[in-house]
Amino acid sequence: MDIAGMAERIAGGERRALARAITLVESGRADHRAQATELLATLDTGRQALRIGLSGTPGVGKSTFIESFGKMLTAQGKRVAVLAVDPSSARSGGSILGDKTRMDELARDPNAFIRPSPSQTHLGGVARRTREAVALCEAAGYDVVLIETVGVGQSETVVAQMSDLFLLLLAPAGGDELQGVKRGIMEMADLIVINKADGDLKATAVRTQADYAGALRLLRKRAQDPDGYPKAMTVSALEDRGLPEVWTALEELAEWRRETGHWDATRAAQARYWFEEAVKAALLAELETPDAQARLKALSQAVAAGDAEPTVAARDFVQQLRGETPQAG
Ligand code: GDP
Repeated sequence: MDIAGMAERIAGGERRALARAITLVESGRADHRAQATELLATLDTGRQALRIGLSGTPGVGKSTFIESFGKMLTAQGKRVAVLAVDPSSARSGGSILGDKTRMDELARDPNAFIRPSPSQTHLGGVARRTREAVALCEAAGYDVVLIETVGVGQSETVVAQMSDLFLLLLAPAGGDELQGVKRGIMEMADLIVINKADGDLKATAVRTQADYAGALRLLRKRAQDPDGYPKAMTVSALEDRGLPEVWTALEELAEWRRETGHWDATRAAQARYWFEEAVKAALLAELETPDAQARLKALSQAVAAGDAEPTVAARDFVQQLRGETPQAG
């Protein structure tokens, strides 16, 4: 594979090259991993997009919101990429983003790039590959990268680790359902957006917004927030209302964080996190080689048979892995 050529086409903004590169980073094959790493080493990492994490339960209107919001941004001349983080097992009936009817207008927009959810089932692997896909989108010169996740628990934390801003999308609901949003997820949000503020649902949406605004005020103040944030707002993704206000709020927050240094501090902490994750993944990958697997199997049989002590066998295994001669006994 011509990695240098691929890097050049990605930097030139070619969507097909970007799509192929993301397929490469999503692959679990060892030779593909090596090529993906080489590609990441070749690309210009100086470009920065605004990375926006977006979470919400199925049906709350994520794809409708992304379609309207994305189209608003591309109409302003911005280039927008949309990625999804969930393993397909977390979604009923496979990948929701794979559904061709989702965001079809945005998908046809030449200034937009939409990538369906990767199909691995292990969240850790999906997380790392999505993070790499974000890096590829930045290198391709996208101004905004939207990282979508279904609100099913752990995936929000993963998205927050690769986003500059985190947006929680909610539906209008009665007071009882307020408690349904886990405190930990609320604490991650920079913006809580109540969707479907239209028609019969409008009054409920406004009440829900007030409830969440109140709940947000009760949370511990975070250092990375100016006065008035995190904020709760209402929108109608279907009727295209409230979306410019969401963008203004996100930009205002981003600007404040840039000026106060919180932006760089967060990105630095995230880079450290992904480095440590990559180190762990690389070490685990060494266990997957046929040679390592054979020795693991032999030692685990010896341990099971009582012929070797577990701790001692593990030490011997690690020493062999490092190419050191195991000590006798
Ligand atoms: P997702 O599962 O979170 O991606 O949700 P969808 O975007 O597929 O929307 C789920 C349903 O809610 C669809 O029937 C949408 O038409 C509807 N919906 C989405 N946004 C709005 C909105 O702003 N107002 C109303 N009334 N319905 C909406």
